[in-house]
Amino acid sequence: MHEFNEEVESLAQEILAYSLKRLKDNPPLDGPQSPEELFAKVGNTITEDGLGGHEALKVFTDTLALACISTDHPRYLSFIPSAPSEHSNLFDLVVGSSALYGGSWLEGAGAVFAENQALRWLSNLAGLPESSGGVFVQGGTIGNLSALVAARVHAREKYPEVTRWVVACSSEAHSSIKSAADIMDVHVLNVPADADGVMIGTSFASTVDGYLAEHPTQRVFAVVATAGTTNLGIIDDLNGVGLAAIERDIWFHVDGAYGLAALCAPSVRPLFNGVERANSFIVDPHKWLFAPFDACALIYRDPAIAKRAHTQHASYLETLEDPNEWNPSDYAIHLTRRARGLPFWFSLAANGTREYANAMQQTLDIAAHAAKLVKAHPNLELIHEPKLSIVAFKRVGWSTADYERWSDKLLADQIGFVVPSAHKGEPILRFAIVNPWTTEKDIADILETL
Ligand SMILES: *Cc1c(COP(=O)(O)O)cnc(C)c1O
Repeated sequence: MHEFNEEVESLAQEILAYSLKRLKDNPPLDGPQSPEELFAKVGNTITEDGLGGHEALKVFTDTLALACISTDHPRYLSFIPSAPSEHSNLFDLVVGSSALYGGSWLEGAGAVFAENQALRWLSNLAGLPESSGGVFVQGGTIGNLSALVAARVHAREKYPEVTRWVVACSSEAHSSIKSAADIMDVHVLNVPADADGVMIGTSFASTVDGYLAEHPTQRVFAVVATAGTTNLGIIDDLNGVGLAAIERDIWFHVDGAYGLAALCAPSVRPLFNGVERANSFIVDPHKWLFAPFDACALIYRDPAIAKRAHTQHASYLETLEDPNEWNPSDYAIHLTRRARGLPFWFSLAANGTREYANAMQQTLDIAAHAAKLVKAHPNLELIHEPKLSIVAFKRVGWSTADYERWSDKLLADQIGFVVPSAHKGEPILRFAIVNPWTTEKDIADILETL
């Protein structure tokens, strides 16, 4: 619409200045506003004449940006925050200005090559074979669904007579598994977790065997083990579940959207033993691997199965079907894709893997320190000794309403962002620490308000 004229040039300077300032300065936490409040401030931004770049940018920087919580703030400890490194954020600007197409080797060979090296690092950490491979997808939800679809295609090839399919997972599994099962119209078999919330191999085996004895025409095509539950950071018995799955010819998928990031920290690596048996696994670099939204690494032990499941065939795509070229589109539920793994790749390439291990250890140490402070606090009860970087606790004597009031005030006072969660039907608080810039003082300041 516009050539790169003087006006666009000055807009470019403004945008770069804003982006750099956002990256350099500690951002405020900010917080949501109602649609009415926002409309009162900016009105209708879509107009026939257009606002012009400067004005539209002003609408964003002066108003809209302030109604978005800074997920990379060191005191944003809700859900799973985000903590992109400077390198990854800066490189996202390059990706954004380069019109890269990440779906096929023909169009994006250089980008796909780099993404694949980053995937290889993750695959090696997990101990999968060199023949493994995958793709960066939008998030863990799409990653889990894509893996399960591949698992069922594989099972259908081997067991064509089966008409009712079942996926097994722990009652603590992420909501995206239930959602995937609904989309795929498969039954979810819940494996009871033990008292610590862990799905144990023997419990998985007996649940599956018992279910199939009662439903002999059905087949369990996959089991999802969680390596770091979102709420408490609990890791299933990967070794036991993996072995029992292999014995039964059941696809072993590991959902490590949050937790498998810690594969790169030697101090906790043994917690993930057994992940090397996985037929597929996911980990979100946008959660705990210092990459910006949105990037989930989805890796298959045998990518050829995923390719059979996911390649789209159409006359206009036939030219892409060269068996020697890696087309990321073929490995998940998508076609057009942004080269979303590149910011992660750049940061990893620039900083080196040792730096990743160090940053990861830093967050693990802060989580351990936070647990210590919680235990020493007269009003708080730690729910569970953190294995990874989630610290869950109760405020003695508080109702759900008390937690909500406290949480709202904490954000309104711009001290921190910590929303209540629940455990065994009771309200709890949890800190999810993925940001190496979160300090002991940040934790202490928040605990002081309790
Ligand atoms: C966050 C999470 C997901 C979903 O990932 P998205 O990137 O939010 O789609 C799935 N599983 C686990 C264990 C998670 O923590």
